[in-house]
Amino acid sequence: MLETKCLCGNQAQLRFKDEIGRVIDKVVTIKNVPVFLCPDCKEEFMKGPDSLRFAERVIEAVEIGVEELEF
Ligand SMILES: [Zn+2]
Repeated sequence: MLETKCLCGNQAQLRFKDEIGRVIDKVVTIKNVPVFLCPDCKEEFMKGPDSLRFAERVIEAVEIGVEELEF
């Protein structure tokens, strides 16, 4: 699905972008994360399963000691 409803009621559109994640003092970049962006209120959000995966990828990047990882 390429569009989903934002909390404001408008349609948010799927974009792929690099997102910064953080575990304690470590900061890593996850590349090409599917994020929905609302053109109206500028809200950005991930779908539930995607935000879980994002959190897992952040932890994985920290564990293997890299600064960036593909989503
Ligand atoms: Zn919105």
